[in-house]
Amino acid sequence: MLREIGDREAAAKTKDIDLTVGYQGEPGAYGEVAAAAHGGIPRGFASFEKLLEALRDGDIDEAVLPMENAVVGAITEALEPFAAFVVEGLELVAVAITSVPVRLSLAARPGTPLAAVKRAWSHPAALRQCTHRLAQMGIERVVCYDTAGAAQIVAHDASTDAAVCSRRAAERYGLEVLEEDVSDKEQNGTRFVHLRMADHARAQVSLAFLRTSSMTATGRLDVLTGATLLPLAGTAEYPVRMWVLGADAARLQALAPVRDVQVISLGQPAAHAAKITPPKQGTEPVVKSLPHATARRAPTVVEVGPLRLGAGARAVIAGPCSVESPEQVMRIAREVASCGATALRGGIFKPRTNPYAFQGHGLEALDWLVAAGKANGLPVVTEVMAVDHVKAVAEKADVLQIGARNMQNFDLLRAAGRAGRPVLLKRGAGSTVDEWLGAAEYIMAAGELRVILCERGIRTFETATRNTLDVGGMLAARPLTHLPIIADPSHAAGRADLVEGLARAAWSAGADGLIVEVHDDPARALSDAEQALVPTRFAELARNLALHPDARLPLAQLRAWVDAIDHDLGVLVQRRLEVAKVIGDSKRQTGRAVLDPRREAAVRRTYQEALPGSKLLADKLVDLLLEAAKAQQSIDE
Ligand code: PEP
Ligand code: MN
Repeated sequence: MLREIGDREAAAKTKDIDLTVGYQGEPGAYGEVAAAAHGGIPRGFASFEKLLEALRDGDIDEAVLPMENAVVGAITEALEPFAAFVVEGLELVAVAITSVPVRLSLAARPGTPLAAVKRAWSHPAALRQCTHRLAQMGIERVVCYDTAGAAQIVAHDASTDAAVCSRRAAERYGLEVLEEDVSDKEQNGTRFVHLRMADHARAQVSLAFLRTSSMTATGRLDVLTGATLLPLAGTAEYPVRMWVLGADAARLQALAPVRDVQVISLGQPAAHAAKITPPKQGTEPVVKSLPHATARRAPTVVEVGPLRLGAGARAVIAGPCSVESPEQVMRIAREVASCGATALRGGIFKPRTNPYAFQGHGLEALDWLVAAGKANGLPVVTEVMAVDHVKAVAEKADVLQIGARNMQNFDLLRAAGRAGRPVLLKRGAGSTVDEWLGAAEYIMAAGELRVILCERGIRTFETATRNTLDVGGMLAARPLTHLPIIADPSHAAGRADLVEGLARAAWSAGADGLIVEVHDDPARALSDAEQALVPTRFAELARNLALHPDARLPLAQLRAWVDAIDHDLGVLVQRRLEVAKVIGDSKRQTGRAVLDPRREAAVRRTYQEALPGSKLLADKLVDLLLEAAKAQQSIDE
């Protein structure tokens, strides 16, 4: 709770200092605490309706509304008008949530004995939070519009009435605190949402309303999406029944019964749009029988030196199919490292379909692989095929790979799970997502929690590709597990010409990483020759995935890298100008001013966030874009 406030305070120092933030109530109300939590200037309003009108009319930059209290749940007094404004079409986005600890004191005029207090004034939501305590004390509840307002009323009234309010409010109006905390529950607190107009800010928090006339239609949505459903009464005119907190609106939309439920999203956080996220935190695993692999916990980050996978960290593992010689693996390691790969792969034991095919150079080659990794600052990933080899391989390799053919070799999974190294677990070519997660569970139950799941193509009727990269299966696994999920486009394609396309498809779909086969002389490769990318093609792929090259790459290739970025930037600027023109047209058609200083400030913040190291550059870019947009408008007119 306090951390959230702390986070907001840190953010405020850089950008939100001069915002006016409205709240409902008098100075001293809990809303004022939330409004000030990130440095804005609080301004009180008599009602939630007036507060939302002020936001709509641009009198304030942001509004805070209480949504949920630890004792009484939904704060319907705030949520009902909020819902009505949203249903009427007010386009709001949620930019933050602040949790405010609530201690409700009983306060009266100085000298009033507790026994003399027969009535207590407060906001209805606050009174609901102390129903039992007040009843025990024989105190009748009297509703007024705000906790701090209650303190004000009691201070001005010559009776022995009390107010239920914060100590801050009591002191502000000269009251004496008779009881420190009359909440029915310890650790009381209220969550406030910070709202801004959609055209002045981007959503940072995912929130939605459900508009439905049937309560049962929403019954399972919280379980399916991990959302919090807060019930609202709604009206005949606005049959909004539920307010949903922290839910991915796209997922809600997908899971809600089509005819009975309409999802009204308050904007998707930009970075999460259309992305499938790992399971929400909670106590029960998603699949009861797989408590480790499907635990509802924060995404697992597997980190080995420069290799980081999971929770938004994405990386590429690259190298030859087989370690063929010390020189071969050293050369390829240097190539992939200079393109931004952060781990080196290479097989020393090869699972070959034909027993007479090259079987790998065995443990001797592990030293060549490790030396190549060390020389280039890359941890190494290598496959282990036999229980007897696990110990020896784990002594030197950084990550143990379990191959597709061994995904259900349960003894091997257990042995790998005891080896003390992260495990990269390939999905079997004939295995379901459930079986894949079951295999991960074996490793985790044996003690190794750092498991990387790898989709490498499944066997289908198709013969044009070696396997079929199951992007759908990879996505279906995403909401079931907190483990990182990567893709292997090389073994899926079996052909070098398809590797880049599949790699980009998996990356765009949200894979946490890729493992790619690279060889500098594919014609002579001892295994999987057809699917190996040559280093220059790998460089192209790495560039398209926005990896960072290093100075060992030849200058001509580094230039190609930066040229590609320049081209993309130019195309984006052109697109921005075109969309800005459409916005200008829209504003003229609806009679709104084309230039809007608040909007300009929001655009500046966006660039400053994207360019944290250089405010000057961010501002100059905005200046240039605005100048270009103005020039464009005047030419058009
Ligand atoms: C490999 O990575 O070289 C390999 C043999 O992969 P898979 O087990 O996915 O076939
Ligand atoms: Mn291979």
